[in-house]
Amino acid sequence: MVDSQYILPNDVGISPLDCAEAFPLLSPKEKLYAHYLSRASWYGGLIVLLQTSPESPTIYVLLQRLFRKQPPSVLESVASAAGLSPEEYQAFLVYAAGIYSNMGNYKSFGDTKFIPNLPKEKLKALIWQSQAFKDSPTQMEALWNSCGDLMYSLDEKLKQLGLGDKGITTYFSGNCCLKDAELVQKFLDSKNLSAYNTRLFKQVNNDGKCCYEVRLASAIKDECPIDGDVDNKCGCYNFDGTLFKVVRGDYAPLMQRVVDCLKKAKAYAANENEEHMLEEYVQSFFFGSIEAHKQGSRYWIRDKGPIVESHIGFIESYRDPFGSRGEFEGFVAVVNKAMSARFAELVNSAEVLLPELPWPTQFEKDRFLKPDFTSLDVLTFAGSGIPVGISIPNYDCIRQSEGFKNVSLGNVLAVASATQKEKLTFLREEDKDLYIKLKNPSFEVQVGLHELLGHGSGKLFVEDEKGNFNFDSKNVRNPETGELVSSWYKGSETWDSKFSTIASTYEECRAECVGLYLCLNNRVLSIFGQEGSDAEDVVYINWLNMVRAGVLALEFYTPVNKTWRQAHMQARFVILRVLLEANEGLVSLEHTVGSDGKPDAIISLDRTKIRSVGKPAIERFLRKLQIHKSTADVEGGRALYEGYSSVTDSEPEKFLTLRETVLLRKEARKMFVQANTRVQGDTIELQEYAGSAADLIRSFVDRFHDDGEELEEEILALSQMDAHCWS
Ligand code: ZN
Repeated sequence: MVDSQYILPNDVGISPLDCAEAFPLLSPKEKLYAHYLSRASWYGGLIVLLQTSPESPTIYVLLQRLFRKQPPSVLESVASAAGLSPEEYQAFLVYAAGIYSNMGNYKSFGDTKFIPNLPKEKLKALIWQSQAFKDSPTQMEALWNSCGDLMYSLDEKLKQLGLGDKGITTYFSGNCCLKDAELVQKFLDSKNLSAYNTRLFKQVNNDGKCCYEVRLASAIKDECPIDGDVDNKCGCYNFDGTLFKVVRGDYAPLMQRVVDCLKKAKAYAANENEEHMLEEYVQSFFFGSIEAHKQGSRYWIRDKGPIVESHIGFIESYRDPFGSRGEFEGFVAVVNKAMSARFAELVNSAEVLLPELPWPTQFEKDRFLKPDFTSLDVLTFAGSGIPVGISIPNYDCIRQSEGFKNVSLGNVLAVASATQKEKLTFLREEDKDLYIKLKNPSFEVQVGLHELLGHGSGKLFVEDEKGNFNFDSKNVRNPETGELVSSWYKGSETWDSKFSTIASTYEECRAECVGLYLCLNNRVLSIFGQEGSDAEDVVYINWLNMVRAGVLALEFYTPVNKTWRQAHMQARFVILRVLLEANEGLVSLEHTVGSDGKPDAIISLDRTKIRSVGKPAIERFLRKLQIHKSTADVEGGRALYEGYSSVTDSEPEKFLTLRETVLLRKEARKMFVQANTRVQGDTIELQEYAGSAADLIRSFVDRFHDDGEELEEEILALSQMDAHCWS
């Protein structure tokens, strides 16, 4: 038996990334822009294969050839003839889906290797009986010979990504260790050369001396300067008595494809910022210049609130064991215009909704300012994995002085928690169908309220340097005590500086409470198209989801140092505690034993008590949160919030025990099936897929339908070029 850490379970969650509402609402020009950016992202995303492990490119090509000749539904009968059980065939499909989702055979979250969960001989038998093998036996056999052993190997060094003895990496040749990485970093710093788009290859000569080759990713291979090549740093250097060569052309054919697509996209840009941004990215990817990418990122920051948002390049450095080389990623996300229209109506109703909040008008802002928030739906996310939100650029020099953008990815968030009935933990059977049906619409109501009226509401009392108050300090009273307000923010004090360590989670909690509280308002519900008994169901599921999230949150609590690692999850746990405390049978939490004999739990919410018990409980708590916030009362705020945040094993809830159950029942990381875009005449068509391993595989075969063979030759050639460097 293989340690389950190194396989993907057959029932791993696979969900379509739904873009069906957002994409059709784009204009034809926006669709074309999104399409060519998507193509650039997908081609560039293949670079991750070469950045992950020596065998990843070959495994990918083997799978593409297999499935191009026979889609999963057809290959199934071949598998059965080859002696695979249905479970073994499913394990193979899940493995293939995992390779596509992670762009390699190491998990993008956690960096551990995963291997096929079926015997090697069976997989070989399947390949040997496939149509792809019948058509080109020599090629298929060569592919298998080159990756079969590595695909299955769980040698200590191959179990995870790492440098030197610690693991495998393709950011460095196999003979590099930490000392090499440090020396080269010094060299790069001395030349003011960023490591983001580089890899490092060390050659040891016969005389024992070594030479380092720093290879830059670029479409062009030529090292001599040519027209427009302003940032050329190629050449030989002597640094500290060691020879360094800076060359370019890493991933050249793939970089060229990215460049070609970005040039096409530019013709459909919405404004000059987007045009300049793409020009700089083209420059960066063509010549291998990070300076040009930084310049492109500057235009990107200035492109505020675009309908089609994107980012592309060597972005996150988590997977370089040394932490300075970026992994390629490209994404395209689009504003969901229908959802934005509902959010806009919510903002327009702020004047009538804000007075509903449980604090006196003096505690509300003099004028409502719409917070800067757009939720985007991901159309394309190419690379090793999809986050729920991003904050880029990572270039510190730009972040500090010129800013950055936070991007919230709505459709990723929406499927991040379980949607398959069998996987739905901690709910009563009778709640599950309704939960699955209404989770997304109720989530949309909650997100809209949270972002716009949650973060957008409430006033901070301030006395500026000149002694001017922004409130009537002689008359404003604390609604809880009836006494005059006695504390406020002075001079340069801010919410973050005063509440420091708890500021973000406290504020998230306040925003979540506003969502729960205002979703009970009929006007809000009708803005989101919810009326009558359906609306009551949406309210119920929104509250139930919050209660369940409070339980799931325990995963993000670390008992040894008693800390919370995630602001939103801590906030949801706090809300669960508040609702449990309200008692009167509103929420009940039961420790049980599952059908597998292992510990389980059931959480339930009495829907008849939401308005009678739940609403007043949230009302009291939300008011307290706001008063402490408005009056800069850190001591009071901290005591309140940290009290509800504490996790103990006391009866009846036994949260520490519950945490063990939550960890035990934690769902494996989901995979996403992404749509394809295709030119159809002079428009762009969206091709969507359902959520299974077979669908995920089909989406990848279709994605490279037109140029698959040519592309695979390029990938294999790139991978073989360095094959001697890894051992
Ligand atoms: Zn928030």
